[in-house]
Amino acid sequence: MASSRPNVIDDRIHVLRTRWDNYVNAGSFDRFIEFTVTVNSLAEHFNRMRLPGLVRMCEGLENLALARLGTQASHPIANRDIALLQRQVETLLAAVRTSRLVAPERRTEEPAEAVGNLEWIKPRLVWLVVAPEMHEMANALRQQIDFYGFLTAEIGWEEQLPDSETPLAVLCIPGRESAEIEHRKIAEIRGACPASQMIYLGVHPALDNIVALMRSGIDLTIPIEEGTTMVLNCVLDLVQNFEPEKYRVLVVEDSLVAVTLIQRTLSEHGIDSRAIRDPGRLLDELQCYRPDLILMDMHMPRFNGVEATRVLRQMSAYRSLPIVYLSSESDVGMQVEALRLGGDQFLNKPFNPVLLAAVIKTKIERFRETQRSSRHDGLTGLLNHTAAKSMLKAMVDNMTPSRMLTVAMIDIDHFKSINDTFGHPVGDQVIRGLAWLLKGRLRSSDLIGRYGGEEFLVALPDISPAQARAVIERIREDFSSLPHAHSKGALFSTFSAGIASWPEFDSPQNLTEAADFALLEAKQHGRNRVRQALATDEDFRALQPYLFPENS
Ligand code: GH3
Ligand code: MG
Ligand code: MG
Ligand code: MG
Repeated sequence: MASSRPNVIDDRIHVLRTRWDNYVNAGSFDRFIEFTVTVNSLAEHFNRMRLPGLVRMCEGLENLALARLGTQASHPIANRDIALLQRQVETLLAAVRTSRLVAPERRTEEPAEAVGNLEWIKPRLVWLVVAPEMHEMANALRQQIDFYGFLTAEIGWEEQLPDSETPLAVLCIPGRESAEIEHRKIAEIRGACPASQMIYLGVHPALDNIVALMRSGIDLTIPIEEGTTMVLNCVLDLVQNFEPEKYRVLVVEDSLVAVTLIQRTLSEHGIDSRAIRDPGRLLDELQCYRPDLILMDMHMPRFNGVEATRVLRQMSAYRSLPIVYLSSESDVGMQVEALRLGGDQFLNKPFNPVLLAAVIKTKIERFRETQRSSRHDGLTGLLNHTAAKSMLKAMVDNMTPSRMLTVAMIDIDHFKSINDTFGHPVGDQVIRGLAWLLKGRLRSSDLIGRYGGEEFLVALPDISPAQARAVIERIREDFSSLPHAHSKGALFSTFSAGIASWPEFDSPQNLTEAADFALLEAKQHGRNRVRQALATDEDFRALQPYLFPENS
């Protein structure tokens, strides 16, 4: 929740400052590593909070520090390097202070009883820097952004910046003003709002042009033909579901000393790990721990690391799992052979802890990125059918008697006629519009999946069935007034929803079936409505064998 943010950040900033002071006082290699690790974890924290500007600053500081890491003998580093790092630390701390997030005020029209203290709607400020001749285009974009629960403000390229809360994002929409004016304004905004995501709409796709904009402070450039769809996607991404999963590493290493050192380093970098000292247990451990990466020793009793890797590469489940060797093997021929036979990277012992953590994290991020594309739907970016089902299963498995969970099945009404009347691309845009609305309105802990063509599965944990229903009703109302552009104007669409709650329905299958049945009823009763499934519903019991014959 927004109000809890400053304290967490204060703690982390305090740790950063203390670690830096400790290094300046002691001048030792170990203190320097601690400081670097703290900067790295601060960057990750800002990344989780979707503050790309602060992430960039932390990474800059981290790079400066890494360039001076050296070895034990390099410390303390030269005074001028200390002064340089000191300045960067101060700059970062100042940026954090000026970009401190202010808890947004509730919008007055929100029904208080439904919303309670929950962070349902995340209104955030978006600035649009607009040339006069682009005002109309900007206005249309602004209406759409407003619609998704953001607050917007328009500024001219030569106007003063408003004295308001720091914006989440700044959209720059250029017109006929000179490049000089643009770059000056962009640099001014970058200086005033280091944490905001700066997007430039309408770029000429020339490399030197884009590089110049990035040097002034733009994070992202969007060609004009990609238009508003892409801008909305970028802004919504900033507040989208983003639950970082802990990195999991399986360490395969026979030496107890090495295991201890490795696991200590990993845990200092926030990486979860398990170790096995007998490679014979590898397959069992992979099954139950499901690591994102294996850190493999080369020389072990019974099998060596290369043999184990070869076996894994023959199994489809582990064909692309990252495997990093960590070994004292210094023969380059052996190292190359190890990579040829399926390893992803070779690191030497004794290892540099910062490099080890960086290699592991980047390998895991790449790996997850490729996995992600198989779990997410291309049109909406939501979880696909299979991924949504498995996430629902995980949510139900984690239920305890004190917790609550409501599932909703949502289906767009008369969608076939939208396709038939306006064409498939407009139909796609309606599906995307609903996906965006769900993303913008639900919490990061909620499950949102595209279950079928124009059907969505939503699961809302830890609120009562009545609250969940109120939330879905609110989204239903808003969706019905969301305009979808087509070539001759705008069309409006509606959806119907069925909801079912745990523990009345106590398995993923019972929940989705009951919600499906309630959805059917909502359709039969005239559409554009939400129906709740009741376990005592006689109709449901009587109809179940016909609706879901495989159960009976
Ligand atoms: P109801 O109110 O009863 O739900 O009627 P409906 O027309 O929405 O339902 P129906 O199941 O008959 O039609 C769904 C249509 O959705 C059929 C299919 O061609 C279309 N569809 C499925 N996936 C996509 C997609 O990705 N894009 C587009 N544009 N259409 C899709
Ligand atoms: Mg060994
Ligand atoms: Mg439909
Ligand atoms: Mg359907």
